[in-house]
Parts: sequence; structure tokens; C-alpha cells
Amino acid sequence: MVEEVEGIVIREVKYRDADRILTLYTKEHGRITASANGARRMKSPLHGVTLPFVRGEYSIFFGRGINRIQSGQVLASYYGISENLDQLAYGQYLFELVALTTPEGESNERDYALLAKTLEVLQRVSDGALKSLVHAFELKHLAFLGLRPQLGACAVCGKQEADFHHFHAMHGGIICSDCVRKTRGSMRVSDSVIPTMRFLLMTSFEEIIARPISEAVLKEIETCVLEFIFLQTDRRDFRSLAFLRQIQASPRD
Ligand SMILES: [Zn+2]
Repeated sequence: MVEEVEGIVIREVKYRDADRILTLYTKEHGRITASANGARRMKSPLHGVTLPFVRGEYSIFFGRGINRIQSGQVLASYYGISENLDQLAYGQYLFELVALTTPEGESNERDYALLAKTLEVLQRVSDGALKSLVHAFELKHLAFLGLRPQLGACAVCGKQEADFHHFHAMHGGIICSDCVRKTRGSMRVSDSVIPTMRFLLMTSFEEIIARPISEAVLKEIETCVLEFIFLQTDRRDFRSLAFLRQIQASPRD
């Protein structure tokens, strides 16, 4: 059966002489795998439309074996991202995160739209707002998958407090001062960390990238969110994160 689907190429694996096996995050079926035969030949009509960072419309044959892309046309290409090493590394991280956290073959239109919007913003964002954007994506993406961290009240006892200063990844969110004393493994965070996480979760990208957030606060948010993601995905070896750390550690001009 041939079907028209809209999707974003989030992974490419080279196969045989000239084929590509793609992971697509699609509007209609969520994450799927499909082959693009001959797509690595420059003259192939599939060449440009099957590259990572492309959003396209594809005719896909869904069969008993591997799905096969028959044709496609580019709707948007976020190639701008690949010209900036930080943007590229973060873009790859978003893709790896989506590949690891989304169920295969299940449509999630809100999450699909979130990824498309994030890529569009990512290629025009200043370096200063890059991390805010990525952490906002992580939190919104988790929420759309039904894995929203508890940021409103204590994740253990449900109590409200004026200010929360602890995050507990295993318990799934913030915890109150009483529960901190009874629980092990909570992370102490600075005053503005939890309000900033709420802001990133609830606010539009345009407002987020317009508001500067200190490097120190972003670092604490990264620690909390990553620990949460590691527990949810049951792994700690994101390849894209290793690449990110490598480029962040290298000296700049
Ligand atoms: Zn509590």
C-alpha cells in the first residue's frame, strides 16, 4: 500500500552501494524506518529529499518487509543548522532524543509539530539562546509523550510550597523540604532553577529565545533534565552528547 506522509529525516544509515535506510519522524505514523534505494547517487530524484535535516512529503510503500520511499518533495530544509557546529550538534541531539524516546509507528502530531518548529528556530537562534531552546524542547517533548516532569507540586507528597529547591529525577520532579529529609538522591538547585524550568515548559519559543537565562542556571537545568531523561530512556550514552561535550571543550577564537 502506498501512502503519502509528511516527515523529518532524523537518521540516515548508508546501505549497500547507494541506498539509504532512513529513520523518519512522521506526522501520520510517528517514528518509522524506510529505505530510499539509490538515494546516495547524485542523480537520484531521492538524493536531496532523503538527507537529515530535511522535512518532506513522501510516497512510501508500506509492505511486509521494509517500507520503501518511492518519491518525495522537500517542504523545508534546515540546512542552515549544519553550517554552525553547535547548532549541528544540538540538532543531532534532538534527533537522537526523538529516536530513543518515541514509540515506533505511533502518531503524535503535537510532538511532530514541536520538532519541526524547534528546527526552524534552531537555525536562526543566537548562540546565547541555543541551550534555552534545547531545554525547552526537552521539557515540552517529554510532556507531549506523557512523561512530563512534575514541576507544580511535590512529586512525592503533592504539597505546595512557595519555593522549591530540590529536583528528584527518580520521583519525577520537584520535591518539598519535608520529603528531601526523608528521601535520598535529590538534587539541590538554585532559587531560579525551578521557576525557569516552568517557564521553558509553558512558554512559546519566541518568548524563550528573547529572554536571556544565565549559563549557571542553564547548567543546573541541564543536570536535572538529563538525569530525568537518562532514567526514562534507561541509558547514559547518547552519542550526540559526547560530540557536544567534545566541541564545547575545544578552544574558541
Ligand atoms: Zn513532599
